[in-house]
Amino acid sequence: MSKEVLLKIEDLKVNINNNEILKGLNLEIKPGEIHALMGVNGAGKSTLVKTLAAHYDCEVTGGKVTFKNKDLLEMDVSTRANEGIFMSFQSPVEVPGVNNSYFLRTAMNAKRAYEGKEELDAMQFLKLVKEETNKFDIDRKLLQRDLNDGFSGGEKKRNELVQLLMLNPDLIMLDEIDSGLDVDAIKIVANVINSMLDGKKSILMITHYDRLLELIKPDFVHILSDGKIAKTGDYSLALELDEKGFEALGINNANS
Ligand code: ADP
Ligand code: MG
Repeated sequence: MSKEVLLKIEDLKVNINNNEILKGLNLEIKPGEIHALMGVNGAGKSTLVKTLAAHYDCEVTGGKVTFKNKDLLEMDVSTRANEGIFMSFQSPVEVPGVNNSYFLRTAMNAKRAYEGKEELDAMQFLKLVKEETNKFDIDRKLLQRDLNDGFSGGEKKRNELVQLLMLNPDLIMLDEIDSGLDVDAIKIVANVINSMLDGKKSILMITHYDRLLELIKPDFVHILSDGKIAKTGDYSLALELDEKGFEALGINNANS
């Protein structure tokens, strides 16, 4: 029996600053699947996940995207989050003046309200955050500060993990969450992600590094080139890429 589809992207075309970056991209993700997206710098990897998260940089000019059989492109950014889409940014934005803990509780409660659940008060929220962060040895001090304000690169990525754990999404999109992290921090990322995998949650992760893929084994590896998925394989494609490079696989630097 074939499984239902969580995310279906058909012939997606996206402009950034009036330049066509995605030129008819197709991709299908089923519940429980782990997809890795690779490609040279500037290929449009971030553009794809930003488009799915409704980032204002990305102008959709064609195509169709369905999430849980609903029209994703019709949904505003908060509806997408409430429906279970999560994106960890390549460079998380600093928001001085917005307390991190307050921000996260507000986001959680918005999602809970959408799901018809009761709101969490400050005590209940703290208890949950403690339970989750304790499992992974994640420092909670960051919660007392303003959102990403003055956080180091590694701290920003850890904070994304706390959000991920608390928001418990169905589609987890990770844009180079491993970049700038040391080996131990990458292990924490992998532990968090792997602990969340329940056969239903799906992952779309962008990475250049083998290490993360060793720890979170993808079912599919896609190479994005010239605005489309140029090649799809299994984990061995990532290994081949690491060994031979993009050019040897016939992937050119189309966007440079
Ligand atoms: P990748 O993540 O694969 O490295 P991106 O999706 O970030 O690539 O970028 C794709 C292309 O879009 C690049 O040529 C990049 O310079 C361009 N681009 C991305 N964001 C912007 C922006 N805000 N303004 C102008 N060009 C952009
Ligand atoms: Mg990128």
